[in-house]
Amino acid sequence: MHKIHLKPGKEESLKRFHPWVFSGAIARIEGKPEEGEVVEVRTAGGEFIAKGHYQIGSIAVRVLTFDPQEDIDKDFWRRRLTAAYALRHSIGLTERADNNTYRLVHGEGDNLPGLVVDVYGRTAVIQAHSAGMHLERMTIARALAEVMEGRVDNVYYKSENTLPFKADLYPENGFLLQSGEGEPTDIATEYGLHFHIDWLKGQKTGFFIDQRENRALLERYARGRRVLNMFCYTGGFSVYAMRGGASLVHSVDSSGKAIDLTDKNIALNFPKDTRHQSLAEDAFKYLDRMEKGAYDLIVLDPPAFAKHRDALRNALLGYRKLNLKAFEKIKSGGILFTFSCSQAVSKEQFRTAVFTAAALSGRNVRILHQLTQPADHPVNIYHPEGEYLKGLVLYVE
Ligand code: SAH
Repeated sequence: MHKIHLKPGKEESLKRFHPWVFSGAIARIEGKPEEGEVVEVRTAGGEFIAKGHYQIGSIAVRVLTFDPQEDIDKDFWRRRLTAAYALRHSIGLTERADNNTYRLVHGEGDNLPGLVVDVYGRTAVIQAHSAGMHLERMTIARALAEVMEGRVDNVYYKSENTLPFKADLYPENGFLLQSGEGEPTDIATEYGLHFHIDWLKGQKTGFFIDQRENRALLERYARGRRVLNMFCYTGGFSVYAMRGGASLVHSVDSSGKAIDLTDKNIALNFPKDTRHQSLAEDAFKYLDRMEKGAYDLIVLDPPAFAKHRDALRNALLGYRKLNLKAFEKIKSGGILFTFSCSQAVSKEQFRTAVFTAAALSGRNVRILHQLTQPADHPVNIYHPEGEYLKGLVLYVE
């Protein structure tokens, strides 16, 4: 196994179980590891500290184990997946008749950096975010089929957009395993509501499972309210608002495809219901031209404005501008659900951006809830960067 030798003192974060080795921490590399290979990490003093997947880039090693005795073999994947399932089972997500949609593996949160697995009924979707996970995809798929035996028949691979293109590392989307009869259904159920999942081309693994609990909360506030779901994607918040008894629901997204998916999902759950309308338009333009007081409940769930730290300043200005428009237009006594899913933006920074927007609007604003990602997207306590979803529910007078 190739060895990565750290600069003196650079083992400190690893000693606290942080699962990344940055390229700047490396003194020298023994041998010439291929991208995705398992390498051993050693301190400047030559002591073993971790094993993980090697990759060229700012995160050079994603740690799989801190135990020198633990091999990265078939049993390793089985153990980690079993532990991930046990967590979902213990929080009551796996045996519900009204829900078959959950995240089974959340990267570092499940001690599997670079790997995401989402379950949609009898199909699991694997997404690799590192070369190492890409190379292991078949082993992972087989271990998954074993661990989820009787629960999952199909394992789909969807990493075309999460891995950098490389000729010898081409992550084609498609089924890795298919044991069910006939074509697997693309309809998943979340808290009794149904959603088409676009594995082929959809964002993430096809659905934003991470907003489940926040959608359920919105349902409780929807009754009698006129709801605007901005950045609706597949219409998750809209479908919950409909069930919650909203008097009207408008879904807006700049992508025509997203609007089609939203319409399909509304029709699937509420056929012939005339309360819903959708529109493909840019959020900023729509908020600019919409009438003051047109909505009593607004959801703002934009894409990550900052994908990297360098984009932070502009991202914060973006959140401020967007929220300011909503504060200026929402009906008095209205409720604003506002989110940021940028990992590079901290909870405090997001709050400051929203506070600044509130102050600029001059409205009296109170926080009702502070939201985050759900329990099937756990945060490894040694990897605080894993806490990426931030939300505020605000009462706007
Ligand atoms: N709320 C959704 C997830 C939102 S993802 C859910 O619960 O499933 C972000 C969405 O924002 C994407 O669908 C993307 O098409 C849309 N989007 C990106 N830029 C936009 C813009 N300027 N105006 C409107 N929508 C935009």
